[in-house]
Amino acid sequence: MAAPLTDRLAAQLAKADAVAAKHGLALTPLRRQVYALVAASERPVGAYDLLDALAPQRGRVPPTTVYRALDFLVAHGFVHRIESKNAFFACCEIDQPHQGQFLICEACGETVEIPGHELAEQLSHSAPANGFEVHRQVVELSGLCAACQAQRSSGDASHEVQRR
Ligand SMILES: [Zn+2]
Ligand SMILES: [Zn+2]
Repeated sequence: MAAPLTDRLAAQLAKADAVAAKHGLALTPLRRQVYALVAASERPVGAYDLLDALAPQRGRVPPTTVYRALDFLVAHGFVHRIESKNAFFACCEIDQPHQGQFLICEACGETVEIPGHELAEQLSHSAPANGFEVHRQVVELSGLCAACQAQRSSGDASHEVQRR
């Protein structure tokens, strides 16, 4: 996770700084560092992975400190919590508060956020119509990413158990 600062990551950090400035949010060095680590990953990142990644730069950071930074980042829409993985993933549209929807590969963990506010709104409106009070809205689709599907079809016969 100590990957060099790619253009994509640099752009994401610049965007995060701009959104924080616009809304008067304190993106402290630790919060920014945690955000950068989450944003650099194509897979959801767990709090303990973050602790390990921070150690070389900051020494042992108390887990509660990292959880507080993550709470801040989630509360302000910089990252989403991926419930099925108990992990965190950087949002693709941080200046537009929304519920995220995700495609998560079961094999490699690669995760993609599906933008689309209509779906989340449709879901949250259907609940009251059914007399239901929503406490948490989680849309996480699990399956295989394109690369893992390709690997499966080129794999050896022992992997073809799922063929009907
Ligand atoms: Zn998002
Ligand atoms: Zn995959």
